[in-house]
Amino acid sequence: MSRFRFTARPLAFVASLALAVSAATAQQPSRAPQAPQTPQDRLVAAMHGVSSNVILDYVKEMTSEKFGGRLTGTPGYDASAAWTVGLLKGWGYQPMGDQGSWYQKFPNPYTLVLPGTELSLRVPQPGGGEIVKSYRWETEYYQGSTSDAGKVTAEAVYVGYGVTAPELGYDDYAGVDVKGKIVVVEPEAPMGPMPDTALFKKWRPYSFHSYKIENAAKHGAAGKVYNYHIVNPNARFVKGLILSYVNEVVLNDLFAGLPMSHRQTVDQIRKTLKPASRAFGKTMTLMNTTVHHPEGIGSNVIGVLPGSDPALKDEYVVLGAHLDHLGYNHEMMPGAHDNASGVAVLLAAAEAITKSKVPLKRSVLLLLFGAEEQGVWGSEYYVNHPVVPNAKIAAFLNLESVGRGERIGVSSGVEYPAIFEAMKRANDAYVHRAMGAFANLNLARPRQDAAHFLWAKIPTVSIGTSGAPPLPYASYHTTKDRWEIMTPEIMEDLARITFLATVDLANR
Ligand SMILES: [Zn+2]
Repeated sequence: MSRFRFTARPLAFVASLALAVSAATAQQPSRAPQAPQTPQDRLVAAMHGVSSNVILDYVKEMTSEKFGGRLTGTPGYDASAAWTVGLLKGWGYQPMGDQGSWYQKFPNPYTLVLPGTELSLRVPQPGGGEIVKSYRWETEYYQGSTSDAGKVTAEAVYVGYGVTAPELGYDDYAGVDVKGKIVVVEPEAPMGPMPDTALFKKWRPYSFHSYKIENAAKHGAAGKVYNYHIVNPNARFVKGLILSYVNEVVLNDLFAGLPMSHRQTVDQIRKTLKPASRAFGKTMTLMNTTVHHPEGIGSNVIGVLPGSDPALKDEYVVLGAHLDHLGYNHEMMPGAHDNASGVAVLLAAAEAITKSKVPLKRSVLLLLFGAEEQGVWGSEYYVNHPVVPNAKIAAFLNLESVGRGERIGVSSGVEYPAIFEAMKRANDAYVHRAMGAFANLNLARPRQDAAHFLWAKIPTVSIGTSGAPPLPYASYHTTKDRWEIMTPEIMEDLARITFLATVDLANR
């Protein structure tokens, strides 16, 4: 399959139209022939200099083939990090990484997922014989992002949530033999955090991807089919286990001819909290092409703009965004919304900060994280190895998937109203976007870089965008998260708000 398939061509056309329109408005003749005089004038001029064209170009650059989908540990990721450093250096930021460099390095095992894959099912026919169904990569399955390389053909066995929890009187592997076989596993746990949060806490350790992979391997499974149809490297690599992610198409074929459908089976487990494990009486083949790199090294990019107030320059306003994405899964995963958009908005705000030449009392620290996708490792490493005391961070604004939609959401803006208020002042004065603060409800699992900062009691918000019209295809963690589906205008608005709020917080 070509890597340059443009299934979204009509959208690309719309996006280029939108670009042409915003270019026309952005390139009006300069209104002020002389340099603006007061800091306030310079602030407003720099804000107007923030352009959706430039921001979208950053997204295009980051999602281009040369950075290979930015999987942390790969040369593509390192090249994308070097590209950001080139920009930050040019704008006058200073390095704050290891030994005077821009990079903070950390151990980062990673797995390359290459072209060459198969997922098929042999379905016995009523009159004897069987048919072989081969499934389509991406629309029906993906190679597991932490799969071992190889091919396994074996009987498929359903093991529900893949949990062995003696203290809860629950074992999906009881009474089934999975040695050398392919287990079929559900994500999460048989219950959610609501309504019984205390009970869920006991199940929570069994809800993680890595636990389920390791438990399958511990029971001797040779393959695992996971009901989790997105590309996702946030799990441990286990030697000898072939892993694939499937959707309902494959699951319904597996359950066809059984007394209960897939949906009914899952509902029954959730209702009774009793396993419903069983052999399907069907054989599957999984084949994946991967190369595991246990020796991988990841990095965060760290830059600083020192403040000028003798008393306050040791305090920091921090802007963060994760630079990494998913690399390849057969084809390149571009990660435009997730999270080239966040980096692009951060870069635009960072440029406006230095170009405005507005004096800052506090210092501004920029953090571009690696390995968010592999388990928020970069931000965890940073919080445990900070380059400035965590207690000196006055505010941390994390930008996460901010490239699409028409509304801005500020998670933890309720817990940290001072940060949200600074953003609101900027929005109310200049931008007028729909913007709201939310309480952070999902700290059960570190799914965003902001989590580690919040746990360290650092005043933190995580900013996202929403409200884009639905696409005719899935874009989250697929090959379709491309620059063509971005909303350049919201990135421009958010970069302006981020710029003004950062200056406000640095000087307040
Ligand atoms: Zn992601």
